[in-house]
Amino acid sequence: MKKKIRFHQSINTKIVFVIVLLLVFALQLIGANFITQIERQLVVNFQEDRQVQMSFLESTLMPYLEAEANGEESEVDAAQEINSLIADFSGNGITELQVVNEDLVVIGNSDSTQQSVIGQLSGDQDLRQAQLTEVTVPRQVIDPLTGDRRWKIVEPVFSTIQEGQFIGAILMKSNIEAVYAQVSQITIIFLQSSGVAIILSLFLANMVSRALTKPIKEMQIQTRQIADGDYSGTLKVYGEDELGQLASLINDLSDDVAEAQESIDAERRRLDSVLTHMTDGVIATDRRGKIIIINEMAQSMMGIDQDDALGQNLLSILKVDEDVTLRTILEKQDDMMLNGQEDGVPIVIRASFSLIQRESGFISGIVCVLHDVTEQERIDEERKQFVSNVSHELRTPLTSMRSYIEALADGAWEDPELAPRFLEVTQKETDRMIRMIQDLLHLSRIDAGKSILDLEIVNMTEMVDHVLNRFEMLIHSTEYERKNYQIKKELLKEAVFVEVDPDRLLQVMDNIMNNAIKYSPDGGTITGRMQIRQQDVLVSITDEGMGIPQADLPKIFSRFYRVDRARSRAMGGSGLGLAISKEVIEQHGGKIWAESREGKGTTFNVLLPYVPFDEEDEWE
Ligand code: ADP
Repeated sequence: MKKKIRFHQSINTKIVFVIVLLLVFALQLIGANFITQIERQLVVNFQEDRQVQMSFLESTLMPYLEAEANGEESEVDAAQEINSLIADFSGNGITELQVVNEDLVVIGNSDSTQQSVIGQLSGDQDLRQAQLTEVTVPRQVIDPLTGDRRWKIVEPVFSTIQEGQFIGAILMKSNIEAVYAQVSQITIIFLQSSGVAIILSLFLANMVSRALTKPIKEMQIQTRQIADGDYSGTLKVYGEDELGQLASLINDLSDDVAEAQESIDAERRRLDSVLTHMTDGVIATDRRGKIIIINEMAQSMMGIDQDDALGQNLLSILKVDEDVTLRTILEKQDDMMLNGQEDGVPIVIRASFSLIQRESGFISGIVCVLHDVTEQERIDEERKQFVSNVSHELRTPLTSMRSYIEALADGAWEDPELAPRFLEVTQKETDRMIRMIQDLLHLSRIDAGKSILDLEIVNMTEMVDHVLNRFEMLIHSTEYERKNYQIKKELLKEAVFVEVDPDRLLQVMDNIMNNAIKYSPDGGTITGRMQIRQQDVLVSITDEGMGIPQADLPKIFSRFYRVDRARSRAMGGSGLGLAISKEVIEQHGGKIWAESREGKGTTFNVLLPYVPFDEEDEWE
């Protein structure tokens, strides 16, 4: 997010501000010191000058004051002389000169308008102090009329003749204001040049700070670009200083981030392609159970589009939101069975859940894997069915045997008529059970891949002929005599040599023929046919029996499947004959199937692979 830096927050402003502040501070310090020094010096100079003037005046006035003190008479009036001397002396910065005698009576005043004070006792405190202390009294006073500052010196004068006797004093007032005016002027000049210096420094500081902040600004822009995912820019490195090093570090960082981003992208693409090509459905959610990833398989299993699924609740997509909560999934992570679909066909799905957890233990989402277990479920179901079938098949003959044996034990064994019949039934049932168990063992050997074919080159024509002949004999036996069976042969004339296991194939043919007789209760013609084709030989047995309903046709090759359970069992069938036949034919690489019309008859077809015998081979 771009954040605007306010003017007062920018480094530029801060640098300029600090530099100017420092300058102002320095100028203040220098100025204050400098001006005070100058002022002091000028004042001292001024005072010294006045003192020199005073000394000169003193030496000039001395003889007159001496004369005045001694009351000497001469051609010139001393007081007058003094008055005119000081009138000449004043001006040139001296604003007032007054001379008093030893009694502090004014004897001369430079101001022509103030001549009236002459001859009067002076009230000036400083004159009195000078008379008493006999030292010079220097003092700055304020002129009451103008308000200006005046430098006032009162100099006591001592006689040179009469051992330093006080003979009068001179009062001098001079205008010191000019000195202060000079200082003010200097101050103004100083302030002006300071102002110029500050303005100049403002520009300079601005330039310096701009030079300093320019690379920082560029770095700021560059880092923002990196944050926005644009790694194309390169920063200009201005020098080897800290900023230069920082710029090259940012360039390196940009390269590293670009590289890392690239590898993350590649990783993501790889993950995408793995997810796309997985045969399992995968759904990933955030920590609230909202879908963030759903692969194609999961979409098709759940019958939903990616766009509709993203952001949706996982449980509602799986249609289990009424049965479980997210909390139970998080806590137990149990598998769950769901109903789904594949290409519109209903399937059974096992959903497994696992948590996406950070190292800290924080759960950031759930991964749900959907696995199609329809086939597994079907096999499971078949196995259960098979076990139940076997138990059922064995229980029936055993129950019937038990009742016969019980009857025998209860005394029937003594009955010469019943006993042999009962024994015969138990023997039959036992035989049937043995047959069934043999069949089961055979099937289990085939399932385990332990049943190995004993292959031989067999003449199929001869074999089928042989089987039909055998049954021809059977139908003419007393058992079947009344039923009027006919056997018809539509076999090939030539020998057809096929590589098969003769014992097994005979078993299959016997089973089909047996069924043909069994399920033709009213007799009829049983036709055996043979056809030879390019790559295979087809043997068909057609009967004119009860037929098989269309719906049952695909199931008759399943284990224990019988169209009419009671009848089949009564005929001594186990329901395993065709199942074994199918396995055996498939072991030979062939096919077996039935065609039937209910009430009209059934045809069983056996197709075996056949390589035409090449006569030339024989002579080689
Ligand atoms: P079974 O021992 O019961 O005969 P099979 O596996 O040989 O068992 O046959 C399975 C079922 O197929 C039979 O129970 C019967 O219902 C049906 N079937 C087999 N052959 C014929 C046929 N020629 N005509 C009518 N139904 C038949």
